[in-house]
Parts: sequence; C-alpha cells; structure tokens
Amino acid sequence: MSGVNGAAHGASLSLDHDLVSPFTALQAMAESSRCLYCYEAACVTACPTSIDIPGFIRKIGTGNVKGAARTILDANIMGGTCARACPTEVLCEQACVRNKAEGEPVLIGRLQRYATDVLFKAGVQPFTRQAPTGKRVAVVGAGPAGLACAHRLAMLGHEVTVFEARAKAGGLNEYGLAAYKMVDNFAQREVDFILSLGGITLKTGAALGRDVTLAELRQDFDAVFLGLGLASTNTLGVVGENLAGVADAVDVIAALRQKSAPPVALAGRRVVVIGGGNTAVDAAIQSLCAGAEEVTIAYRRGTAEMGATGHEQDLARTQGVVLRTWLAPREILDIGGAVSGVTLERMALEAGRLVGTGESVTIRCDVVLKAVGQKMAPGGLDGLALASGRIQVDATLATSLPGVYAGGDCVKSGEDLTVQSVADGKAAAFAIDAYLKA
Ligand SMILES: Cc1cc2nc3c(=O)[nH]c(=O)nc-3n(C[C@H](O)[C@H](O)[C@H](O)COP(=O)(O)OP(=O)(O)OC[C@H]3O[C@@H](n4cnc5c(N)ncnc54)[C@H](O)[C@@H]3O)c2cc1C
Ligand code: SF4
Repeated sequence: MSGVNGAAHGASLSLDHDLVSPFTALQAMAESSRCLYCYEAACVTACPTSIDIPGFIRKIGTGNVKGAARTILDANIMGGTCARACPTEVLCEQACVRNKAEGEPVLIGRLQRYATDVLFKAGVQPFTRQAPTGKRVAVVGAGPAGLACAHRLAMLGHEVTVFEARAKAGGLNEYGLAAYKMVDNFAQREVDFILSLGGITLKTGAALGRDVTLAELRQDFDAVFLGLGLASTNTLGVVGENLAGVADAVDVIAALRQKSAPPVALAGRRVVVIGGGNTAVDAAIQSLCAGAEEVTIAYRRGTAEMGATGHEQDLARTQGVVLRTWLAPREILDIGGAVSGVTLERMALEAGRLVGTGESVTIRCDVVLKAVGQKMAPGGLDGLALASGRIQVDATLATSLPGVYAGGDCVKSGEDLTVQSVADGKAAAFAIDAYLKA
C-alpha cells in the first residue's frame, strides 16, 4: 500500500531509496496554498484517525510547521508512518474536493510527511503526561495499535508496560511495510519518539502465551490491551507447497526489511507471487529490487477485485511485474525437490460464484511466494471470545473479558491498515481510561 501520490512512476525502485521524494519547504508552501480549508472537510471524514487536515495545512501555509506536526500527531501518533504508507489515494486524497475541480487532490500525504519530518528532525516531543493516576496497564504487541494505545494511556497519566514477542518494536511498520516506503530506519525512529514521552516500559522478546499468560496480566495490571496483529499466514493447500523455493511473502519481506538473507534466494530467479493484496504487490516489487529476473503476480479473480489499490497495481506494472488474473494455483511443480513451475487453473464467475474452468496454464519459475492472507496465531487467548477468527470486541473495543481491550488487525474494526490500527489503539486508550476511572 502507499501514500504514493506523486511517486515517480517508471523510475526503478530500490530497497534503500524513497518511493516518493520528500517536499522541500518551498514545495510544501506552494502545495499548502492549494487547500480550500473546507468547512466540514471530506478529507477529514475519510481519515480513520480524523486528522484536522485543513488545520494542519493552514499551519504549514503560515510557517508554523511544528504546530502542523502537533496537530497531526495529536490525532495520529504515527502520522509519520501514515504519511509514507497510507493508501491516501483511496482515503483523504480521494475525498479532496480539488479532485473535482482539477482532477488533482491536495497532496495531503506529502504535506503530512513534510510537517512530521520537520518535528522529528528537531527532536521535539510535543506532548506531556497528565498527573499520575497510579493505574498500570499491560499492552501486548508493539505494532501500530499497541504503541498508539500505549502513548495515549501514558499521556493520560497511566503507567504502561508493553510486551512484544519480537526483538524490535514497531510491528509491521518494522517488519512488513515495504523498505522503499520506510527508508532511514524510520520505524525505529518513530518508536523512539513515542517512547520519549515517558511512562512506557517496553519488554521485547516477551510473548503472550509463551512468557506470560493473559490470566497473569489481568492479575498484575489494572487493564490489558491486545494489539497482536495477525501473526500467522494462510496456506495454499496444494501439492508442492513444502518444496524448497516456496516461502511466505511476509517472511521474505521481513527478511529484506531486516537486511538479512530471505528464506529463498531471489537474485536471478523467476518468481511467481500468489495473491492479489498489498502484500503480493510489495513482495513482487521487492523481489525485483532484490534482483529477481522476472516476477509474476497470479491472482484468482480480476484486477477490480484485487486488495491492492489500482495505484499499487500500476506501481507494480511500471516496475516490470506481470499481473495475471483469473488464475488459481493447483500444483507447484518440482525438479529434484526444487520448484520448477506452478500450474494454475483458469477461473471464471458463474452466477456470481468463482469456479474453475478446467483449463490450466503452467508458469515456469524457481520461486513461489505465498501472499494469500494472514490470520491470528493460536495460543495465549485463554477465555477470550473470537468472531470470524479474530478477537471479538464491542463498539468500545472491549473484549468478552472485563478490563481486556483489543484493536488493530486482530479485531475486525475496518480495513487492515496502519492508520486503522492507530485509530483503534487511540480509541481503546480512551475506553480503558474511562474503565479505570469508573
Ligand atoms: C507485507 C505487508 C505490507 C503492508 N503494507 C501496508 C501499507 O503500505 N500501508 C498500510 O496502511 N498498511 C499496510 N499493511 C497493513 C498494516 O501493516 C497492518 O494493518 C498494521 O501493521 C496492523 O497493526 P497492528 O498493530 O494491529 O499489528 P502488527 O503491526 O502486526 O503488530 C502486532 C505486534 O504484536 C506482536 N505480537 C503478536 N503476537 C504476540 C504475542 N503473542 N505476544 C507478544 N507480542 C505479540 C507482533 O510481533 C507485532 O509486533 C501491510 C501489511 C503487510 C503484511
Ligand atoms: S478536501 Fe482538499 S481542499 Fe478541502 S480541506 Fe481537505 S485537503 Fe483542503
């Protein structure tokens, strides 16, 4: 996914270079002057974190750039990441009235990045904490949902301990978002910024269900927030899935983000990515960046049904990825235990149902990357009610257990996006605060 409006299409990407070049001060000033400062602005309604967009753009226009950043971060503490990774083309920028008049929205994402970058460069923490409440909250998962929740709870005067299974905080900001959206170690710089508020203790390498139980957390803390994300992946369920050369796309992306060797070699290889979401597009583009010779995305439905936005699909095509649709994998072929190709069945819609036509095609390849969705990892959720494979929550993000709240990808509150997870984390913090003060 991307806040990639204005990205230089056609230019080839690399894992170390920004997809979109940041605005200079002059460019930001000029772009801010395009905003009409709409009353009841549609762009604000389209943002899951309801950032006061005309408000921050006005501040940029008057030279109060740090004030603009404060406005952004007060609504969305990960405004820096969202400025880089939000699919603005289907959120705020799609809603911008300038689209109608000129066919070109105000470039909100790039203005947001400009303002938050100025504040980060100055090393300013613009928020303070309220007087200590004496209450202690456990947050499980240091992704966007958990960190947004922790930051707001700390602002409200609570003491927060964050339990994170992995070695680094940041969740998919650190291990998932495409490298070319998060250059210069931005995910960790943002984590440091969030923690610099104080009142938040981060424990990495501490997993719920392995190192601590939910019952223990409920006993030791006054409330618990679960921001676990979707830590497990779906399988294809076809012959050949366990061959050398087959890997989960998220594992490949995580390795490339950490600059370690991916589970399958990509340089000089022919890669087929199975799936139609943003993970598929990110894995395909990053495979090319890592030296793959040719990359094909195979998706079982049409481009209109792909989870990846039209903008992302265009980005993939301009980078040289081949998009093939209406193809579902049936078998991964091997030569001596290694992948030699994938056979796919042509699919069609019959009375609205997706069915196989019986006709098959084979794409020769050396690597197959699976990008067919993530799901909740089992374990650690003792006593919690689930709904459709995610944690069941009510409108306040309260789970079925008193004092336990959840948000982000591990619940179904909206789209699985960074910005939605931040919105959930913030909303849950206010709900927890009300619960603790009741
Ligand atoms: C490859 C990929 C690319 C994406 N690109 C974009 C994009 O460009 N733009 C966008 O808006 N969205 C994107 N998304 C979606 C976005 O990353 C997620 O919606 C968002 O990160 C969810 O935040 P979260 O906090 O709920 O979960 P996560 O970011 O997954 O964080 C959950 C955290 O909980 C930890 N955890 C899990 N289980 C346990 C446990 N038992 N104990 C302790 N800790 C645990 C995990 O290690 C992790 O740090 C992408 C997703 C993927 C997979
Ligand atoms: S809709 Fe566009 S023009 Fe109106 S306030 Fe939002 S960014 Fe400015």
